[in-house]
Amino acid sequence: MNSFEIKEIPGKGRAMVATKPFAVGETIFEEEPFVSRQFSWNAAYGYAACDHCMRPLETVLENVRRLANNNALIVPLAEYDPTTPWLEQFTQCQRCKVRYCSEDCRMESLNKYHRVACMGNFHTDDSHPINALNETWKKMHYPPETGTILLIVRLMAMYKQSNNKQQFLESLQSFQSLIVNTEAKIYHKMLGENFEQQMEQLFVAFCRAFADEEFAAFTTPDAFKTLMGMIGTNSQGIATSPLAEWVKKVSDLPLPDGDKAKLDEYIDDIYNKVGEFAGEFLNTEGVGLYLLQSKINHSCVPNAQSTFPYSNDIVVLKAVAAIEAGEEICISYLDECQLERSRHSRQKILKENYIFVCQCPKCQLQVTDPDETSEDEDYDDDDEMDMDDEDANMSD
Ligand SMILES: [Zn+2]
Ligand SMILES: [Zn+2]
Ligand SMILES: [Zn+2]
Repeated sequence: MNSFEIKEIPGKGRAMVATKPFAVGETIFEEEPFVSRQFSWNAAYGYAACDHCMRPLETVLENVRRLANNNALIVPLAEYDPTTPWLEQFTQCQRCKVRYCSEDCRMESLNKYHRVACMGNFHTDDSHPINALNETWKKMHYPPETGTILLIVRLMAMYKQSNNKQQFLESLQSFQSLIVNTEAKIYHKMLGENFEQQMEQLFVAFCRAFADEEFAAFTTPDAFKTLMGMIGTNSQGIATSPLAEWVKKVSDLPLPDGDKAKLDEYIDDIYNKVGEFAGEFLNTEGVGLYLLQSKINHSCVPNAQSTFPYSNDIVVLKAVAAIEAGEEICISYLDECQLERSRHSRQKILKENYIFVCQCPKCQLQVTDPDETSEDEDYDDDDEMDMDDEDANMSD
């Protein structure tokens, strides 16, 4: 019935394989996350998002005024504001005041985790152990963010509220687990140079927040490390932006040339203004764990791509090349710039962040390339020390 299957490929491990052909642009599947969460700093900076699905809760006007720190900015063609149709449906938790894009999201969050996760009046109380844990995290993990401890907090609430804890744990375990020795690299990437002390501090704060006996299975040092490693390797970034959505809509309008030129000029001006104040951080950002999508392997020549066309956390996997029945479906874990880099650079990023050596067709083709770091590599190299010995072995 499905148009793909998850199976073991000898010598490669678990993979997603097409069971029917897909044309370029065709949707392979859509999936809601197992769990998602806005990044801690992103929320602290006022990027307003639905607490459940990450849909932006700002109009494009509010968005650009905040990002440019300029309340005089105006936005033409406001009828194409992607947020407006949702405005009247926005709602919030009456107890803790977190906001949702819709009654559906409020109910779903209540049914999955918010009944136990709701902090009521303590939501903004810095001394609450959950907030203290988040503050500890924020002191260790600055933008550009790649994860948030709050994702684990939400998982704990899901566990507590779940009436089938066995099933919950099985789902959790289906995310790629890591060998303990290699996990240090993941923590290093998430926490930086002092990761060992920071893990210890985080762990203490985590145990304070989840001191109840029912969390005992998660509050051992190893279980906590496993959780951290799991979110480090399985997290899919999610970004939403009313401005980007609006730009996409108005750019597609059939306008006379003169108007089109004016609009383009206006859009450039807006991006300059928001860039001056907000820099590169224009999007509402967070991460999600996806049961199905996380099973897809990486290739440096991917035939599929994860997209977020609904401005929320629903991932839509689309074919970016023709796929034949029986062919493995692969996405790229690297962004477009990283994909253009040398084999050596790509493999370094993949090994450090996802703990594997890429054997894709492109990497195999370039196997005799010298181990050169790409010239345009802006990837921080301050962490060479614990990788170099292995890099040497790799090229043998
Ligand atoms: Zn929502
Ligand atoms: Zn609440
Ligand atoms: Zn590759």
